[in-house]
Amino acid sequence: MVRWRPAFGLLAGLVLAGCGLPMAVAAPPPVAAASATALATPAERPTALPSAALATPRPSATRAPATAGAALTAAVPPASAAPPSSIELLFTGDINPGRCVYAKAKAADDMRLPYLGIAPLLQAADLTIGSLDGAISDYNPPPPCVETHRNLLGPAEMAQGLQFAGYDVITVATNHAKDCGLVRGCQHEALLDTLANLRAAGIAPAGGGRSLAEAMAPALITVHGVRFAFIGVTAVNAPLWAGANTPGVGSFREEDYVAAIQRARELADVVVVLPHWGREFSAEISYQQREAAQAMVAAGAALVVGNHPHRVQGVERFPNGAMAAYALGNFVFDMTWSDGTLFTLQGILLRARFRGAALEGVDLLPIHIYDDFQPRLADAAEAEQILADVAASMTSAPP
Ligand SMILES: [Zn+2]
Repeated sequence: MVRWRPAFGLLAGLVLAGCGLPMAVAAPPPVAAASATALATPAERPTALPSAALATPRPSATRAPATAGAALTAAVPPASAAPPSSIELLFTGDINPGRCVYAKAKAADDMRLPYLGIAPLLQAADLTIGSLDGAISDYNPPPPCVETHRNLLGPAEMAQGLQFAGYDVITVATNHAKDCGLVRGCQHEALLDTLANLRAAGIAPAGGGRSLAEAMAPALITVHGVRFAFIGVTAVNAPLWAGANTPGVGSFREEDYVAAIQRARELADVVVVLPHWGREFSAEISYQQREAAQAMVAAGAALVVGNHPHRVQGVERFPNGAMAAYALGNFVFDMTWSDGTLFTLQGILLRARFRGAALEGVDLLPIHIYDDFQPRLADAAEAEQILADVAASMTSAPP
């Protein structure tokens, strides 16, 4: 597998050393050059990516969760004395599958449209993980391209774009998980259809299910013998949380996510939590985010990757080596406003580099959302600005 290691190694080194990002920003890496290199490199998936663990749907169980036991049994390889493999996980920001994003894709008759400029980069990672800030369902027609409307529902065919982009895991634990269109509301169908549509596309959903137990159960995928678990939770729109026997999304109650992390830690070597949290359009990390990240890491999470603010926030490393990225900003979204600034058209990709089960560091790859809501790597000047915003957010974070 061809891997590219541009000058972002410097950035990762600085993060690893606990120096934060400002120094890296002062000496920005050649992002534009790196982008060209990455996008010119043919995408190649590792042969070791276990299709059996991708929650491949059984015809009779398309709405069942990615149950831990089943995936684990299918995926765990025999012990090996080989040295730990290098594994890269790539995380993206919020995705809106509906509204103007869908309208553009429909007009082009190509559901791949939003991802055409970035898919090779996503496909090249060992695992690619996203955050779906909406629902994918044919239960109702998708709302039209009206900027002021907040109903983020895309049709089932939008899963084609996610599949093309190379997603392996997507969290559905967001405040839009049950968005259901304009014609008539639905109870749980939009969420349950979303889960089924993702599974049908070969993508393991995290953070949703027919019960709280299902919603808190991790999506499990093994790569090069390392077992990864992904848990989705949302702090936003608590009424969407699953109940004991009620469909919904992952709960942000501390007792719920701590228990889920501890259970996942028994099933996996690496636990990743994907919280939907924070204040929309704010670069400020809240006390709630900081405290929750610390609790998640204390419970056994190696990596916490958040979304929802639609704006980049800080990245930090904890004393035990775990890391938190508080918000990656938008990835595929139709927010073409932002009070005269660019921030809702910007984001970062977080590339986490593992050696076996050990998190070595992360690279931050700034993106810009261009016409047709297509994210691509930002040019050097904009990348420098985005990285500076990330650094400033961390510097001003609450203790
Ligand atoms: Zn959100």
